[in-house]
This record gives sequence, structure tokens and C-alpha cells, in this order.
Amino acid sequence: PSDTGRVLSIQSHTVQGYVGNKSAVFPLQLLGYDVDPINSVQFSNHTGYPTFKGQVLNGQQLCDLIEGLEANDLLFYTHVLTGYIGSVSFLDTILEVINKLRAVNAKLTYVCDPVMGDEGKLYVPEELVHVYREKVVPLASMLTPNQFEAEKLTGLRINSEEDGREACAILHAAGPSKVVITSITIGGILLLIGSHQKEKGLKPEQFKILIHKIPAYFTGTGDLMTALLLGWSNKYPDNLDKAAELAVSTLQALLRRTLDDYKRAGYDPTSSSLEIRLIQSQEEIRNPNVELKAEKY
Ligand code: ADP
Ligand code: PLP
Ligand code: ZN
Repeated sequence: PSDTGRVLSIQSHTVQGYVGNKSAVFPLQLLGYDVDPINSVQFSNHTGYPTFKGQVLNGQQLCDLIEGLEANDLLFYTHVLTGYIGSVSFLDTILEVINKLRAVNAKLTYVCDPVMGDEGKLYVPEELVHVYREKVVPLASMLTPNQFEAEKLTGLRINSEEDGREACAILHAAGPSKVVITSITIGGILLLIGSHQKEKGLKPEQFKILIHKIPAYFTGTGDLMTALLLGWSNKYPDNLDKAAELAVSTLQALLRRTLDDYKRAGYDPTSSSLEIRLIQSQEEIRNPNVELKAEKY
């Protein structure tokens, strides 16, 4: 059936905890997708801990895996999903992979979370910004930046809803027909802005979702959010607002559970970043209860 697919997910792997592929693969499988993970790194834990150990895949090693698939005629994918990428050479190889997969399936959807930083801080090498702007964004079908990343990609400062909407329009002009800015903080409130340009040159259909900000810091939420947006927007291809409502609803239920569990265990949830309760939230992933509604502009 057309509402599912086979996803190549190129992201980080952590032995313990949920970021990158660890937070994207399980939810996509629950939503009915075949997911083929390529682990761009394998670390003991995410980089927010005091220390981590592990290995980084290089561009040539990524090429090897793709060549292995190609040699067996296994390059048919409906979707590619990418998240955190640490070097220009790896990002350049991903571009080659996208082009290769598009040659096999011209309808391939490329969902790109242009992970570069947060709250004014870049956590990838500065040269990556240029590569994302010039080469990656033009290939993407859906882009899911946070506020900081949307600013980096457009050169705009985003201080208002209007700025967010304009940033989406600029990004559409560069390539992707779907753009979701997953969070903009304005006066202590979180705002998601979604934008779907149904045809080139047409005015995009835009909406917002207001999210109550939970006073804690979570890792892996961006990766989970992008995976859910892929999963739901493929099932509702003409209703990005509905897809975003479903994704946000899962996130909010999961984050509430995470917070409750930490509090029950006697942790101070504001003291460090929290690991999300992904496996425990499988019911909220499969059947989210939509409490937060999208408002169309
Ligand atoms: P990233 O980790 O890529 O910066 P975001 O911060 O935009 O991603 O988070 C993705 C989604 O996770 C948001 O759209 C929101 O639904 C949810 N989220 C993350 N942090 C919080 C929070 N403190 N309170 C409520 N929702 C949150
Ligand atoms: N990948 C790795 C290896 C990480 O350490 C992190 C965060 O620490 C992430 C990805 C991204 O997490 P988030 O979804 O919160 O942006
Ligand atoms: Zn992110």
C-alpha cells in the first residue's frame, strides 16, 4: 500500500539512550515502515554526557555499504531520512547517495533534518552550513529545522511568527515543498510552524501549533519529531497540518511520561538532559491522542 514504505535512515547510533537512529527507527517501524538504518556513528551514549567513546563512519565506508546494496539490486527506497552529520565529506557522500537512489526511484522522498545547532550555538563545523544551503536543501522534499537552523539556512533572524513564515517561503524557493520549523521560542512559548507549497510558484499553505514548554531539556526529541513527521506526512500527503498535529501529540505525551518517570525516581528534571521514554510510549506513537490543534493562517 502507498501509505507505508521503505526508509533508509542515515543517523547516529548510541548503545545506551535515544538519539538519532535509536529514536527514529522504532517509531517508524511501529507506524508500519520497513526501516534500514545506516549508523553514521556508533557511540556509547549521546554527546551531552560528560564523556563518550566510539566510532565514526567516513564517506568511503558509507559508499561501501551502498555499493553492497547496489550489487544485489537492493537500492529501491521510498524515503531517505538524514539527521546529525559531522563532516563535509560525509555530507557530500550523502548527496551522492540521494542522487543514486533517485536514479532508481524518481519519486524518492528525502526528509532532511539539517542538524547544525540550537540556541545560538553551532555544533557542527562551520563549513557544513554552506553545504546544507547550497547542495542539500535543494535536494530535500521535506526539511525540519529548528529556529536556529532555519536562521542559518535563510540568513533571517526569526523573532516572530511572521519571520518564521517568511523563512519557510525562502526555503520553499530553494527546494523542499514541505518545511516544518519544529520550534520557535517566543516569550516562553514554543511554536511550531508548518508550510506546504503544493505547487512551485504557488503561495504555501501555512499553519502553527502552540506548544506548552515543559521546563526540562530532552535529547533525541528533534530526531523523533522528524521521524514522526516523515511517517505521518506520508500517510496524509496533502495534510501537513494533520501530520504535525499527530507528531506533536506523540511528543507531548512521551515527554510528560519521561518527566513523570524521572520525578518518581527522585531526579531533578531540570538538572541535566533527560533520556526519552520511547519504548514505554509505543501506544502514544501508534495512536496519538490529538490535543494540540493546528491553526491555519
Ligand atoms: P531539536 O532538538 O532539533 O532542536 P526541537 O527542540 O524543535 O528539536 O524539538 C522537537 C519537538 O520536541 C518540538 O516540536 C516539541 O514538540 C518537542 N519538545 C522539545 N522540547 C520540548 C519542551 N521542553 N517542551 C515541550 N515540547 C518539547
Ligand atoms: N546524535 C548524537 C550522537 C547526539 O549526541 C545528539 C544529541 O546529543 C543528537 C544526535 C541530537 O539530539 P536532538 O534530537 O536532541 O537534536
Ligand atoms: Zn534537531
